[in-house]
Amino acid sequence: MTRMIQASTLNALMLGNFDRTTSVRSFLTDADTGIGTYTGLDGEAIFENGVAYRATADGNVTVMSPEDGVAFGTVIKFDLTAPVEKLENITSIETLKEKLAPYVEKNPNIFYMIKATGVFETMHVRSCYACQKPYPTLSEAASHQKEFHYQNVSGSVIAVYCPPYVEGINLPGWHFHFLSQDKTTGGHILDLQAASLSWQLNPIADWELILPENPEFASLDLCEDLSAKTAAVEGGSKN
Ligand SMILES: [Zn+2]
Repeated sequence: MTRMIQASTLNALMLGNFDRTTSVRSFLTDADTGIGTYTGLDGEAIFENGVAYRATADGNVTVMSPEDGVAFGTVIKFDLTAPVEKLENITSIETLKEKLAPYVEKNPNIFYMIKATGVFETMHVRSCYACQKPYPTLSEAASHQKEFHYQNVSGSVIAVYCPPYVEGINLPGWHFHFLSQDKTTGGHILDLQAASLSWQLNPIADWELILPENPEFASLDLCEDLSAKTAAVEGGSKN
C-alpha cells in the first residue's frame, strides 16, 4: 500500500511556522515524489525521482542538499507501474480538476497523487520569497508572491489530492506543482493549458504525519478555521 508522508500541518504553515520540520534526506528516505516548501518558505518544493527541487521567486530552480530543511510537504514512493492514461483538451486548471474528478469520485475519502507529463501551451505558476524571522503569516508572505507565465514548456505536474475532512491539516482537493523537463522553471500552479498529457494516478490509504518540534509550533492555536484564507492563498493570483 502506498504511504503518504506529510511534514507539518497546513494551518501551522498558514500561521507562519516556516521552520524546518524535517530534512530533505529524512523526508525522502521512503519517498521520491511530491510537493511542499522549504525552511523559511524559501520557494516551492517539487520532489521528482527522488530529487528535491526548489523553484524560487527569482524564477530559478535549484537542487536542494540532503541537509536542507522541509517546512511543509507531502511525498510518496510513486508507483510507476500504475496505468499510463491520457488527458486531452485541458483549457484551464478548472477543466483539469473536472477531468480528474471521476477518478476521485469512486473514493473521495482517501488521498491521491498524480504525475502528468507533456507540453503545456501555457503554465502560470507562483513562488514565494524566503522569509526571515519573525515570520509573517502565509497570507502576508503570498501577497508578495512572484508569478511567472510560460508558453509551450515541457514538464511534469505533480499534484496531491486530499479529502475534505483534512481541512487545517492539509489542503482539501487538488494542489498542483510544476517542474519543467529541463529543470529550469517551476512553481505552484495557478493555471495551465495542455492539449494532451500522459498521466498516472496513485491512490493512497496510508498517511504518516511528522509534526514540527520547534517551540513556536507548541504555542500555536491550530483549531482556528483558516479555510477561506487557505483557499485564497493557494489559488490566488495577484494579477
Ligand atoms: Zn503549492
